[in-house]
Amino acid sequence: MADRYFPNDLPDFVQETDEATAATAATADDSSSLLNLLSLPYLKTAEQFLRAALDLKEKVVRETWVRAGRRVKDFTLYTGALGTAFLLMKSYQVTGNSGDLTLCNEIVKACDSASQGSRCVTFICGRAGVCALGAVAAKHSGDEALLNYYLKSFQEINLPPGVPNELLYGRSGYLWACSFLNKHIGDGTIPSTHMIKIAKEIITDGIKLSNKGTCPLMYEWHETKYWGAAHGLAGIMHVLMDMDLNPEEQDYVKGTLHHMIQNRFPSGNYPSSEGKDTDRLVHWCHGAPGLALTLNKAALVFQEEQFLQAAIDAAEVVWNRGLLKRVGICHGVSGNAHVFLSLYRSTGNFECLYRAKAFACFLLDKANQLIAERKMHSGDRPYSLFEGQAGMAYLFFNMVKPSESQFPAYEL
Ligand SMILES: [Zn+2]
Repeated sequence: MADRYFPNDLPDFVQETDEATAATAATADDSSSLLNLLSLPYLKTAEQFLRAALDLKEKVVRETWVRAGRRVKDFTLYTGALGTAFLLMKSYQVTGNSGDLTLCNEIVKACDSASQGSRCVTFICGRAGVCALGAVAAKHSGDEALLNYYLKSFQEINLPPGVPNELLYGRSGYLWACSFLNKHIGDGTIPSTHMIKIAKEIITDGIKLSNKGTCPLMYEWHETKYWGAAHGLAGIMHVLMDMDLNPEEQDYVKGTLHHMIQNRFPSGNYPSSEGKDTDRLVHWCHGAPGLALTLNKAALVFQEEQFLQAAIDAAEVVWNRGLLKRVGICHGVSGNAHVFLSLYRSTGNFECLYRAKAFACFLLDKANQLIAERKMHSGDRPYSLFEGQAGMAYLFFNMVKPSESQFPAYEL
């Protein structure tokens, strides 16, 4: 088990008094560059995060766009060119650099061509992501014709019969794109009647498969009843909480979350699927990190203290076992750092911000060297958003303005 992650020997948090100096670790009194980095006041570290984010963004553009001859093979946000466009949008939001927005538009246009005929309907792996990001980028550019083109293209997406319910390839991944459009273009861009119809189909499917079992809602993907964010319950519940559910439907969501909390491992981690007894994965896709984000959201939506406590418990697992030997968002340190950012936003607790900073500083200080020494895996797609260094760049941008951070394509 221990070879999946680095032991966390990062120093404990020392309380500071405001955000300018908060998240400062115990004063470094040795020559470790990581400890020196951690001992800087937050605003100083944020300057370093911004510089690193901008450098990495340039590298990602070079590797995924320029070197590919400005052509798109893999259009997806997960491993492909749309992930680069999403990173450019983030860079534009943080810095206001219009060159990033122009390039974002150019890459989405190429993704639009490459995704024609794709049967995948989600934000992360399908056509909905292309049309939704295209619409938002067009809106920022003030290009109304282009905005209308992408919105019309989005409306032409049809959910095929037998589509699964999970986030990466299923109904909830399509619904997330609808919520993204309503947030960034305006309420009602996608009518709530359309969204609630799909949400009810998700709930009906979940009741059917639960078959009056101990978990009120249950789903399968490739014949496995997954629990995690990417393919399972955590991701589906996360999206359902943004829908206009009636009290009975809300109870199904709450009951499902209670079932998971009651059946977590003694360590506080969560099984990757129903009945699985191997306590191994601490990823956004499978395990405590994805659950922590969903439970933290449940605490805000349902105002139940036990959800917040469960999110804090899950974050403790991430702190102890989450320094993974990979850099990415999906199953790497960058994704896990977002757990602490999410809790920081909801609680205002500076210890959470410190922990996010500690994970991010670990990457900033050590990732390149560890990858060069083959002690850390750079990802099968080393510059992609979900598996590679674009995810690390996204985290660094989030660290510049932590109160406005989001886990990409998951938190709205
Ligand atoms: Zn993963």
